[in-house]
Amino acid sequence: MKSVAVALHGGAGTLRRGFLPKAEEEKYILTLSEARDTAFYIVESGGSALDAVIECVKILEDSPLFNAGKGSVFTANGTHEMDASIMEGKSRNAGAVSMVTGIRNPVQLARDVMEKSGHVILAGEGAMEFARSQGYEFLPPSYFYNELRYNQWQKARESDVVQLDHSINPEGKFGTVGAVALDLNGNLAAATSTGGMTNKKFGRIGDSPIIGAGTYANNNTCAVSCTGSGEYFIRGVVAYDVSAAMEFGGLSLAEASELVINKRLIKIEGDGGLVAVDANGNVSLPFNTEGMYRAYRTSSESKVAIYEDWI
Ligand code: ASP
Repeated sequence: MKSVAVALHGGAGTLRRGFLPKAEEEKYILTLSEARDTAFYIVESGGSALDAVIECVKILEDSPLFNAGKGSVFTANGTHEMDASIMEGKSRNAGAVSMVTGIRNPVQLARDVMEKSGHVILAGEGAMEFARSQGYEFLPPSYFYNELRYNQWQKARESDVVQLDHSINPEGKFGTVGAVALDLNGNLAAATSTGGMTNKKFGRIGDSPIIGAGTYANNNTCAVSCTGSGEYFIRGVVAYDVSAAMEFGGLSLAEASELVINKRLIKIEGDGGLVAVDANGNVSLPFNTEGMYRAYRTSSESKVAIYEDWI
């Protein structure tokens, strides 16, 4: 029997048990589970891995809980600049947007860049112009406003730090989102979407829209979506590194992703994690932080977690 699988994350960071009230934890678990099951039903019923990761990420983008779409963090200028990317493993086609504002689902715009623009990455005003040409609606800043997010930014501003929304500040409750999937045709896909890092400089681009850093998919190896301090993921070319360790080093998905997150990334002092799936339906969700909002579902297992242990 052919296998299908999905895995997703909602950000990695300093997520310590006890900081989040139980009711809040429940909300995360529910939203992660809903996104996981939506993606799984798509691939299980014959849909494409690409559709599965898009629908999964859209659910997370529409939730105020995560640092993507609606829940995006504030930049140093008090705006919301979002990045997103998508890649399919069969053709290795990819699309990404960076520094977009007012877009409800940047991951959909990344898909449109892949399918309709003839380019891989569109950024800033150019990406916005492309969105306009595709008939996208632009939402007012009030759609993205969130009091907790605003307070996080004020704190970060005072100390002039750039921070992972779900790290350092123990009240941080948001995270970059991403998903990977394997469909019945053996195709892999990966997608990532983020508001970036709180108090980031105007024009800063993280790893999430960079193909090979935050997102990668290749049917011969795996599909990967990352979360963490983007600068390190760019320098470590993390998503591609996992694929390369499999392709050229002959490692399994679990070995490759553990090596990259728990050895190679740590060597350059990078913090974060990733979710990955291979062409046989194996999943791997390593992180070198205290926790990572995450979930996966395969033909035989369905799990969700925030902290080290699975629920
Ligand atoms: N990787 C994202 C960035 O650097 C942040 C995150 O994962 O939360 O933009």
